[in-house]
Amino acid sequence: MKENTQMKVSIEQDYCTGDGLCADLCPDVFAMNDEGLAHVKEAGGLAGTGQRVEVDQAMEEGVLDAQAQCAGECIYVSMD
Ligand code: SF4
Repeated sequence: MKENTQMKVSIEQDYCTGDGLCADLCPDVFAMNDEGLAHVKEAGGLAGTGQRVEVDQAMEEGVLDAQAQCAGECIYVSMD
């Protein structure tokens, strides 16, 4: 991994099954909305569909774990 890379994560709600796994595994990063779909948390609320949010380094492992287990395959991680 290059130095100065920053993990970012987003969710496409269209494919979220609503099982809540990501919010269970990594509640500091993911939360469910009122309709039972997962979102990435951001300061002051929930990120929009596809909105990329920076991940604290301490949360990276949990995010990758959630991505690997996501039934909807709708958690997207990038490093840039
Ligand atoms: S793990 Fe995937 S399918 Fe399950 S709630 Fe999270 S985003 Fe939705």
